[in-house]
Amino acid sequence: MTLCATPESLRAAVQALAGHTHVFLDCEGQTLGEVGGKLSLLNLGVVHQDHSSRLQTFLIDVLAFQGSMAQQLNPIFDILRSEQVFKVVFDGRMDASELLNGHGVQLKNALDLQVADIASREQHESVDRRLQRLVGFLPQYEVNRNRALYLQVQRLNGLDYAMREHGVHSAGKGYVDHDKWLQRPLSQASLHYAADDIRKIWLLYNKFVEKGYISNGTLTQQTARYLALHGTTRHPRNDKYKSHGLFPLGILSGPVSGATVRCQGCRRDLPISAFSCPSHPSNGFCFVCRAINSKNGGTVTTTSFRRRIIDYDDLYNDFDNEDLYNDFDDDDYFHYGRGF
Ligand SMILES: [Zn+2]
Repeated sequence: MTLCATPESLRAAVQALAGHTHVFLDCEGQTLGEVGGKLSLLNLGVVHQDHSSRLQTFLIDVLAFQGSMAQQLNPIFDILRSEQVFKVVFDGRMDASELLNGHGVQLKNALDLQVADIASREQHESVDRRLQRLVGFLPQYEVNRNRALYLQVQRLNGLDYAMREHGVHSAGKGYVDHDKWLQRPLSQASLHYAADDIRKIWLLYNKFVEKGYISNGTLTQQTARYLALHGTTRHPRNDKYKSHGLFPLGILSGPVSGATVRCQGCRRDLPISAFSCPSHPSNGFCFVCRAINSKNGGTVTTTSFRRRIIDYDDLYNDFDNEDLYNDFDDDDYFHYGRGF
């Protein structure tokens, strides 16, 4: 792991990254992609195929390159924009939004392993298992009573949980205070936490390659749709229709011909088949937003309230707190957290 906070170390990183066709990518910062968001670390990993596969990770200190120094980041941003370099991320939605809205960088030729995880279920998972995943986000009785409403709804995995589910063994996530990403100097614990995410993304990617989940260009097209969800604007904090643990509709299948209707929750234009009431879709919510409305009373927790339960991470298999800006914690909180 190399922290790059000087022009010299940044140049050395650019040199080391040059010529690599695959880069593992992750970002750390404050409420990335949301109003008030700010990028702190841009983390890139490359694998050297010398004697054995060796991962080399660079943590680019974006805050060290501001003002007149900012242009020094351009060679790194060029890698992110490049169609020739393949970027592997896990839940890159907020990272992509922050890069675009904060730095004008459009992430291209990317593969999001969270999308690959969902796509793998399409091949190998029964409908019953898929519905059962929703329990926790939704009450069991709601899933049992209204199965037809949830057939298109997929629950997302966090990185740690995806690794466990796919048989990648790795130590659990340590604790890091996500409020402190903008402080300097960063603690060794924070730097290791950031580097460890790159290592985990690499390990999960290797497993997906081994299992044959990553075999064609479809996933990069699906990823492009996934990363474009937040578009060219930052979304408000705690928007329950934007930050949640469900996979948005239409990402795997892509655009369909025919009429579309704007969902009243996520505000996306979706085909009529995405709505439970085809005769009046214009009044409605898509299946995913409808599930959010039905979620254990539909209440949204505040960030500070969510943060209080981070320490319970080890207690709950389903609980992945790696990304405070999305709502995996929130989802699981409602299932497991009641009574705290
Ligand atoms: Zn919707």
